[in-house]
Parts: sequence; structure tokens; C-alpha cells
Amino acid sequence: MTLHAADLVPAGLVPPAREEQVRRVAEKFAVAVSAEMAALIDPADPADPIAAQFVPSAAELESAPEERADPIGDARWSPLPGIVHRYPDRVLLKPLLLCPVYCRFCFRRETVGKKGAVLGPAALARAFAYIRERPQIWEVIVTGGDPFLLSPRRLAAIVRTLDAIPHLAVIRFHTRVPIVDPGRVGTALVAALAAEKAVYVVLHANHPRELTAAARAAAQRLVRAGIPLLSQTVLLRGVNDDAAVLEALFRGLVAMRVKPYYLHHADLAPGTAHFRTGIAEGQSLVKALRGPVSGLCQPTYVLDIPGGYGKVPIAPSAARRAGEGGWLIEDPAGGVHPYPPDAGGERG
Ligand SMILES: *Cc1c(COP(=O)(O)O)cnc(C)c1O
Ligand code: SF4
Repeated sequence: MTLHAADLVPAGLVPPAREEQVRRVAEKFAVAVSAEMAALIDPADPADPIAAQFVPSAAELESAPEERADPIGDARWSPLPGIVHRYPDRVLLKPLLLCPVYCRFCFRRETVGKKGAVLGPAALARAFAYIRERPQIWEVIVTGGDPFLLSPRRLAAIVRTLDAIPHLAVIRFHTRVPIVDPGRVGTALVAALAAEKAVYVVLHANHPRELTAAARAAAQRLVRAGIPLLSQTVLLRGVNDDAAVLEALFRGLVAMRVKPYYLHHADLAPGTAHFRTGIAEGQSLVKALRGPVSGLCQPTYVLDIPGGYGKVPIAPSAARRAGEGGWLIEDPAGGVHPYPPDAGGERG
């Protein structure tokens, strides 16, 4: 059973002294903690990384001047409800703006979990028509909200409709359900994803403790159906801004056949300053993993540029220019090497 704001004190996840704070946060932003995530929280630990992600805190009531209601500029690229078309070859399709949990750092927190959060049949039909009329669209990314909250019947209808559009090659789902509510990934949901075209599922996981036995089993049900799995992680202060935690998370994901895809620098969503690290910190974390940890465990560290300018990699580069056509390359241990190597050098 999902816990809502009023359930958190009775469930022992929030001390009574903080009840009023939670109520005030819940007036601004949606609150939900799935049973699986609630069970992972240690209420005696004030720094619990699972609680930090889902249990409201007073810090959310403070807005920083750089924060924006629409941090990644979705609205600018939305030609009609339910569609965001920022890059020529791919569109986001958002059939609903509801989630199984509400992450306190959510980049869409001003739109998810509000009233009118489901795209009606007429609006959905217009979104499909938009995709059908544009042969340059190669991939549809079904996101939200969380599309795996749809009933298997409605999910299957979306997959069938997209599968029948000849110019599409890829149908990609972005979801937190396999991690936070793994029981939903049952036979019916997996069957709803069956298609002729390539179907990918990208799951959202931020801490190794989220990779429970039930989450691993849900991922395996998708893998056995032939669906490649990728993951996205948000870099969060107090949750995973630690090389050992990130290493455990990425190794855990790879071991369950999930390829870490993106590590997102936290977006400038309202009331989330307490979660943000600096870019320099993020760069030193990803640099610490490069080399000692398998290449399979290295997601691309990205920033979604505020204002809708797109996602770009922001990991430090190992290569810098040095003189005419030459380069200096830094190895994982910090040694610097000319490239091409000097004549008479190592390969002499
Ligand atoms: C993140 C995003 C995508 C997907 O980008 P990839 O780099 O292909 O994962 C597509 N459209 C929009 C608007 C996005 O924000
Ligand atoms: S699952 Fe994604 S969309 Fe939903 S609240 Fe969390 S970050 Fe936001």
C-alpha cells in the first residue's frame, strides 16, 4: 500500500514534531512512498538515503533564485499536450503525469501528481497523429509521470499503436516502477510491451539499497521477454554523492543486466537546492570510477541545460590540446602522456 502525506507520522517515518512541515510541503508538491520503499527506510537514521528521496523535508519550502518551475524547458518544445519534441529524431510521449512515488528532487515536480494528470483519449489520438505525420521521428520515449502505472490494457494499446507506425524504429519507456513497485511488473505488464519494433526500458535507480530481491526479479522478467534494460540515476547530495555508493549502485545494476545509461546532474527544480552538488564534485566522482571500475558500470554524466537547450555530457575530458596537432592525455592514475607519443618515446 502506498503511503501518502497523512500516513507518514502514523507509519513512524516522520516524527510528530515534523507533521506540520510535511503538511505544508504536501500543499505544494505531491507526496507518495510505495510500500517497498517505506520498508527500506531506517526511521532511526536521520540521513537515510531512501527517506531523503521520498519523505518531504522543510528544505523544500525554500526556493533558490536559480530554480525554475520548468527546469529543462519542456514547455518550450511542447507542440501539443502529451508531446515534447526537442530533438528531430525523437519525441517524448507523456500519457500520464502520475508516479508510484514522488521523488523530492523531481525535475517535473510542478506538473506531476496534480489534477488532470492523465491524457484523455482525444488528446492521446492527437499525439499519435503528430508522430504519424512526421517521418523524421525514429524513436518515441514514453515517459511521464510513470507509464508503467497504466493498466496493461492501456499500455498494450499504446505499444500496438506505435508499433504500427512504419517510420518508428524504437519504443523506449522511462519508469521507476520496476524499482519502487516491482510487483506491478507482472505477466500482463510484460506481455503488454511485446512489439515487432525494438522496445527498451530505462529504469530510474539512485541508491544500491533500492536494488532489492523483488526489483531484481522484476528486471529479470523484462530481460527474459527480450527487453534491453538501461538505467538513469540522479546525482543527489546525501543520497549518492559518494564514489563507493555510486560504484555499488552501478555494479548492482550491471549484475542484474541493466546498463547504466545516464547520471544526471540534478536539475534546478523548485525547493531542491539541498540535493544539488556542484559540477566539479560530479566530475571528480565520475573520474574516480573511470579505470578502477568496469567500463560497463560507467554511465554518461549529463546536464540538461536550463531553458530547453538539450542534454550534454559534462564528464571531465582526458584529452587536451597541446601545440600543433598534438594532445596531452591523462591516464586513470593521473599520469599525462603526449599523443601521438614522442618519437623515441615509449614505442621508440
Ligand atoms: C532527455 C530527453 C530525450 C532523450 O534524450 P536521449 O539523450 O536520447 O536519452 C528526448 N527528448 C527530450 C525533450 C528529453 O528531455
Ligand atoms: S519517478 Fe521521475 S517523474 Fe516521477 S516523481 Fe520521481 S523523478 Fe519525478
